[in-house]
Amino acid sequence: MIGGGQLARMTHEASIPLGIGFRVLSERPQDSAARVAADVVVGDHRDLATLRDFARGCDVITFDHEHVPTEHLRALQADGVAVRPGPDALVHAQDKGVMRARLSELGVPCPVHRIVADPADVRRFAEREAGGYPVVLKTVRGGYDGKGVWLLRSAAEAADAGPAAEPFLAGVPVLAEEAVDFTRELAANVVRSPHGQAVAYPVVESVQVAGVCDTVIAPAPGLSAELALRAQRLALRIAQELDLVGHLAVELFQTGDDRILVNELAMRPHNSGHWTQDGAVTSQFANHLRAVLDLPLGDPRPRAPWTVMTNVLGGDYPDLYPAFLHCMARDPGLKIHVYGKDVKPGRKVGHVTAFGEELGEVRERARHAADYLRGVIDE
Ligand code: ADP
Repeated sequence: MIGGGQLARMTHEASIPLGIGFRVLSERPQDSAARVAADVVVGDHRDLATLRDFARGCDVITFDHEHVPTEHLRALQADGVAVRPGPDALVHAQDKGVMRARLSELGVPCPVHRIVADPADVRRFAEREAGGYPVVLKTVRGGYDGKGVWLLRSAAEAADAGPAAEPFLAGVPVLAEEAVDFTRELAANVVRSPHGQAVAYPVVESVQVAGVCDTVIAPAPGLSAELALRAQRLALRIAQELDLVGHLAVELFQTGDDRILVNELAMRPHNSGHWTQDGAVTSQFANHLRAVLDLPLGDPRPRAPWTVMTNVLGGDYPDLYPAFLHCMARDPGLKIHVYGKDVKPGRKVGHVTAFGEELGEVRERARHAADYLRGVIDE
C-alpha cells in the first residue's frame, strides 16, 4: 500500500487474519502505518525509482491516498505491476476537474460547475451559470479535509483582490461550482473486484464540522428505501463505468427535493466507511484487500440496526490511560481506534464506534467518548 496513514494502518490490521504480506511505502518512519507494519519502505511516492523498488516483489499495489502521479502509475503498469485501482480510474479521485467532466458525460447528477480562469471568470460563472452566489472554488488537485475549498458568498468576495484570488495561486486549474443548498451529506460506499463482483454497503450520513467529517451514521437516518437504492446503484454504476477495483466512496449531497448530487469520489478505504470495522460483517478494509487481490468479496451487511462512528480530532497525545479507564468503564460495548499519528491541532487522531438498537443512545455513546478523548487530547 502506498501511503503510511491511518488507512494503511487499518488495512494492515485487516491483512493479518488472512496472512497476507503487507508492505507500506511511507513518507516518514513515524507515520501511522509505518509504526506498526513489519515491512516498511520509507520513501517519496512522487519518485518513480522509489516506486519501482517498492513494487518489486509485490503481487499488487494499492493506495492509502491519491497523491501518486498518474504518469508514474502508468509506468509501473508498463513494467507489468498490477496497480489497483488503475491510473485511468484513480485519476477521477485525483483531479476534481477530470471527475466532473467524466461524471457529467455519464449523466451522473453533479453541481453546476466549470473550470474558471481568474476572479473575473468566477464572477461570470456565478452570475450567468450558477444562478448567483454563493459559489464554491476548488483546486482540482491536492485538496483534503476542506483544504483547497473556498466559499464565496458575494460579488465582493469574488473581487480580483479578494479571497477569490487565492485558489489561483496554487498553479493548478480551479473548478467553480454552484454552492448546493443541501440538507445533508451522504456517502454510498461500494467495493468492486477485477472480474466485476461488487458489494454495496448501506448508505450513510456523514456529518461535517468546519469541512471535516465529524460523525458517520449507518444507515443514514430517515433515508427512504428508494433514495438509498438510487444512491447505491449510482455508486455501483460509477465503479463499473470507471472500471474501478477496490473500495469506492461516493460523497453525495442530498437536497430538500430529494435529489442526490455527487460531491466527490475516493478510491480507497474512506472515513465514511470506518464504521464497517465494528459495525459490518466485512469491513471496508478487508473488502478492499479482497478486491485488489481478486478474492470473492465479503458480506457488507450491518451487524446492528445502528452504528455511529465519531472522529477524534486532536492537539497532542497525553497519557491516554485515564481516558481509556473512563471510556471503557462507562461503555464496555464501545470500540476505540487510535492511529498513533504525529498530532497537530484539528487532525484526525482516532475514532470511536458504537452500535446498538436505538439511534439516540448509540449516538450519545459515540459523542461522549469522542468528546472525552478529545478533551483529554486537547488539554
Ligand atoms: P475535500 O477534497 O477537502 O474533501 P470537498 O470537495 O469534499 O473537499 O469539499 C469539502 C466540503 O465543502 C464538503 O464536504 C461540503 O461540505 C463543502 N462543499 C464542497 N463542494 C460544495 C458545493 N458545490 N456546494 C456546497 N458545499 C460544498
